[in-house]
This record gives sequence, C-alpha cells and structure tokens, in this order.
Amino acid sequence: MATVNLQNVEAQTQELEYLRLAHGLAQRLGTLLELKPMAETLAHALAEIASAERVLVLATEMNSDMLRFAGGFGMGELRAEQALYPFSDRSEVIETWRCGEYVVLQPGQMPIRLADLVGQQCLSIGFYVENALQGAAFLVDPANGTLPDESICQLLTSLAPTIAISLRSAREHTMMKKTLTGKLQEHQMLRRIDRDLLDTIELDAVFTMTLDWAMRFTTAEGATLSLYDQDADTLYGFVDLGYSMSPEQIQTLRAAHDATIAHRVARSGRAEIVPDVSYDSNYLMLSNRVQSHVSVPVMREDRVIGVISVESKRLNGFADDHLEFIEKLASRAGVAIDNARLYTDTRREREKLSRILSNIADVVIVVGAEGNIGLINQSAFSVFGLPPEVDYMGRPFEEVFAETEFLQLFQRARRLGGITVGELTTADERTFSANLSHNESIGWIIVMHDITPLKEIDQLKTELVHTVSHDLKQPLSIMNGYVELLLMQEKLDDVGQNWAGMIQKSIQKMRQLIDDILDLAKYESGLKLETSPLPISIVISESITATSLSAEQKNTQIINEVGDDITMVQGDASRLVQVFTNLIGNAIKYSPKDSSVTVSAQRRETTIRIAIRDNGYGIAPEDQARIFDRFFRVRRPETREIEGTGLGLAIVKKLVEAHGGEIGVESRLGEGTTFYITLPLADEELA
Ligand code: ADP
Repeated sequence: MATVNLQNVEAQTQELEYLRLAHGLAQRLGTLLELKPMAETLAHALAEIASAERVLVLATEMNSDMLRFAGGFGMGELRAEQALYPFSDRSEVIETWRCGEYVVLQPGQMPIRLADLVGQQCLSIGFYVENALQGAAFLVDPANGTLPDESICQLLTSLAPTIAISLRSAREHTMMKKTLTGKLQEHQMLRRIDRDLLDTIELDAVFTMTLDWAMRFTTAEGATLSLYDQDADTLYGFVDLGYSMSPEQIQTLRAAHDATIAHRVARSGRAEIVPDVSYDSNYLMLSNRVQSHVSVPVMREDRVIGVISVESKRLNGFADDHLEFIEKLASRAGVAIDNARLYTDTRREREKLSRILSNIADVVIVVGAEGNIGLINQSAFSVFGLPPEVDYMGRPFEEVFAETEFLQLFQRARRLGGITVGELTTADERTFSANLSHNESIGWIIVMHDITPLKEIDQLKTELVHTVSHDLKQPLSIMNGYVELLLMQEKLDDVGQNWAGMIQKSIQKMRQLIDDILDLAKYESGLKLETSPLPISIVISESITATSLSAEQKNTQIINEVGDDITMVQGDASRLVQVFTNLIGNAIKYSPKDSSVTVSAQRRETTIRIAIRDNGYGIAPEDQARIFDRFFRVRRPETREIEGTGLGLAIVKKLVEAHGGEIGVESRLGEGTTFYITLPLADEELA
C-alpha cells in the first residue's frame, strides 16, 4: 500500500510539475505576438526543460507544406534563416507527430540541409492544431548525443498542444502583419507609379519605369515590355531590363523564335504564371538562371496593346499578389502608353505643321486670347522685317508690332470680334490682304496673303477701261451729234427718220453700257464713299422721282410705304439713290404694263431693311443665285425684248456691301420679285 501511495505521490508531484511548467510556458509564450521572439523563447524554454544543448524551432510556411527556421537556442554561428525544409515526403515522421508522439530522428531521416545543421540524432516533436501542422522542435545534445529521459520526453509531448496554439497565433499574427505591410507598400508604390507614369510623356521612359517597378515588387531577374499590334498580330518595341545579353542578341533570339509566352498572352488577352519554364515549349530563354515567368497583357479599351513579362530565378517565383500587382501596373502603363503616343503624335503633327508653315509664302500668326504670340512663321519675319534670331513666342503682339498699321488692324479686329478683313501695305510697298479670325479656344488666327500682283493687274485693268471707254465715248458723241443734225434738217422721209431714231437708240444703249462698265470698274478697284447720316425717306423719294418717267410710260403705280420715315441711315446719298433707282427701275422694267411697285422699310436693332416688291415676271430659282454676276441676264421669252446690260445688280451689290449692308432676293416665276436691302443705322439712331 505504502509503495502504491508513494508512487501516487510521485505521479501527482510530477503532474503538478508538468502543470506548473505548462502554465509557465503558456504564460511566457502568450505574451509574445511575433513569430521570431516567440520561437526564440520557446527554444530557450525547451532547452531548459530538457537540458538540451541546442534547440531548433521550425514553423510551417503559410500556404505551403515546408518548414522554415523560426528561432533557435545554442545555434552559435549557424545561419538557418533562409532555409526551407520539406517534410511532406516524410509521412512516417509526420504521422507520429500528428499522434502527439515524439520522434527520434537520425541525420539520414532528415531533409539534407536540416541534417547538415543538426549533424546528429535528435528528438523531434510536431505541433498540431486541429490536424494542421504549425511547426516542430528539434532538441539536440551535442555533448554525448544522448536523448532526454522518457519522463522529459513525455513532458514535452504533453506541452505540445499548448505550444501549438501559441505557434499558430504567432504565425497568423506575423503573416497578417506581413500582408498588411505588403499592402501598404504596394499602395505607396502604386501612388508613386501613378505620379511618375502619368507625368511621363516619353514612351521609352514609360517602358523602363514600368519594368523597374515590376522588378522591384517581384524581386525578379529580368523584365520585358513589348507593344502588340493586334491587326498584324505582331509584338514590337521591346524594352528589356535586367538581362546580361545585349539588346541585339535578344533581338536575334526573338527573331528566330516564332511563338513566345508573351505572344501567347497577347493573343489570348489573359495573364499567365508559368511556375516552371522548363515545361513550357513557348518559353524563350534570355537568361539561363530564369526558372519561372509571368506575362500580363496591357489593355486599352478591350484591345491588347502590349505585354509585360517578368522572370524569376526561383522556381514558382510568382504568387497571386505579384500577378495582381503587375496587372495594376499594366493598366497604368496602358494609360501612360496612350498618353505618350498621343504626345508623340501631337509633337510630330506640330513639327509637320511648323515645317509647312515655315515653307508657305503667306504670313501666319496666332495670338492667344491674352494677346501674346503663340505662333509666328518665317514669312512674317521677312514681311515685317523682324530679326529672325529673336524668339517671339509668348511676347505681346502689341509690343512686337508697336506703332504699326498692322497693330491698328489687330486692335480693330479685337473690338469687332468674328472675322475682320483688311489690306496692309508694307514698308517695301507690297500689299497684303489680311484675314483676322477669332477662335474661342485658340485666340486670333491671322493669315496674310500677298496681293501685290493682283493689285497691279487691277490697276492696269482700271486704266485700260478708262482709256477704252473714253475712246469709245468720244466717237459715240460725234455720231450722236450728226444723227441729231440729220433729224433737225427734216430732209429725211419717214423711213429715214425711223432709221436715224434706231441709230440714236443704239448710241444711247452703248453709252449706258460704257457708263456701267466704268462704274463697276471704279467700284471694284476700291470705292471711296462719302457717308453721312441721311433720312431714309429722302433717299427713297429721290429714287422714285428718278424712275417716274419710265413708270409713267408703263403706267406703273409706285407705292411709297416709307412715306416720311425719318430713320437715319449712314450712307453716301448719291450712291444710295443709285442703288434704289436701279432696283425700282428693274421692278418697273421686269413687270408688265399697269403693274404696281411697292417700297417699304422696316427698322431693326442696328439696321433698317428696305423691300422693293413688284408683281412682275419673277425670276426662276436657278437664276436667282446668278443675277448679281456681271453681265448675267435671264433669258426668258417674256423678258427677251427688254434691254439691259446685266451690270445693274452687280453694281448695286458692290454699293450695298461698301455701305456694310446686305442684299437679298425672293421671287416666284410669274408672281413677282422682292429685293431686300439692309443698311446700317446712323450712330445717332443707336444712342
Ligand atoms: P439688266 O441690265 O439686265 O437689267 P441687272 O443686273 O439689273 O441687269 O439684272 C440682271 C437680271 O436680273 C436681269 O436681266 C433680269 O433678268 C433679272 N431681274 C432683275 N430685276 C428683276 C425684277 N425685278 N424682276 C424680274 N427679273 C429681274
């Protein structure tokens, strides 16, 4: 009985000791969150309990069945931090551990590199939580290679579940921290990439930067970015980073290889991780150290525009988070490539445009909305005698062209807005036609064309017309004089009188033609108007008086609806009377006898609109556009007999436009015609 009691007491004491140790160990380990200090403490505690010389604690690598060194005791100089030890193929050991028992391992039973580290037999215990291996401890006694006695071994196995839970928490904590740090780093990296890439407009720089970031994140061996032409199914524009081969060597290799992993990815548009390149027939070897590869398509609006490939010297070197990161990088690179292309295209276009502009004879100047020169071409330098070596870009127009006629024209254009046309004579006596047009987004576009030769021809034409018409008019006057004498002598019989009358009519017609030609020539070579404020009623009544004789002859009634309207127009009195006399005269001329012609006026905001309406023969739509052309006359049976030169409306149009007005027509064949004239009101009307 006594023996039994004693054994009981011993057993109880031992159990108490276990509990005390377990409690102490749990307390020590429970306060440690990080894997490394936790494993170090554990190794230390195990060495203490088992009086071991050296202890190694390994922890299971996340998402893998490998064990990695986590902490040790008595390891001295031995470095084991980086090593991974595969235990999955040692099922016997694993099974025994799982059953909660220790295993005595001989060096031959351990993975080679672990055996090198331990060097002799050791005691091993696996730590499990719910059947999942969390890690293992290896206890070594180098002094004599002995193992702890059985009771210690039992004690250690009974502590295993407590240790396993602490190990799991530490692993999870460390893992979580690593993930969070990784995410934070990735986030910071992406922010920098966004800034760097979107600021970059050179394609080469975009490529290199993208690859640099991809390699930094994945700690890769080498990386490539290539552009893809989907229509031609070709990859081009490669940039390689990290390979020792020269770009030429790489190029030769590529040319000899018709299908690469990158090409496969470009075609499918799907990213691929190749964990072991030796099994991929499309793999193109750019470095013999490479073991794994990842290729990600660069997309723009559903089209593959390039591929980023990254290679690692590790087997299975790319995890999902690497792929995710490269995909994010690829989407940014897509935008940046687009921007860079756009920039390159724009620059090329700009250069082309500037070459064209510098080669044309016309002066082209663009002035921004703020009044600074945004573009000036070569011709402008020579036309305005500007020293070509000076940089005029960004300088105020008013300063560069100070005190010139050109500046006055520009200032007028700015006041008026829209399009302003003017003529300028330069210091070397050349005449330019200048067109200044305003554009909301650009500012002012000024184009000047040298019209000196045209001016010279025009001058010649005017002189010719003058001389010829003078020379024509003189014999006409003589002819007219003699015909009048013939008629006065009363020696002619009726037939003779009739013939003489016809000669007189023809002379009159020819005179009219010459006068019209002279008028037109005069107006076309620049008309000097003498304008003043005039009441519109005076202009209209004078014009009606001038046409009253022909109205009487055809018994046409002229209805003046303008009456004594004293609205003032700004105009040249005699020219305006010429305009309305012509229009009222036509209305009488192109209407049958006993018709009526109505003249009315309608005041608008800054103009007055005068209408001359008849109910005569009318003008066909196809002729309406041409009636203002010189010498154009409508050929219709009902108006064939009516005499005219076809110059009247051409002159009227010139005169109206010289007044800053407009002319228009509305007509229906057989029903009548209305001509509309708008004229600017005199300033006093606007006040
Ligand atoms: P013309 O000397 O022939 O009258 P215009 O230049 O004055 O020359 O007119 C050109 C042509 O326009 C005329 O020949 C005529 O056919 C047509 N036309 C002008 N005014 C009228 C009108 N009020 N009614 C119909 N036809 C007209």
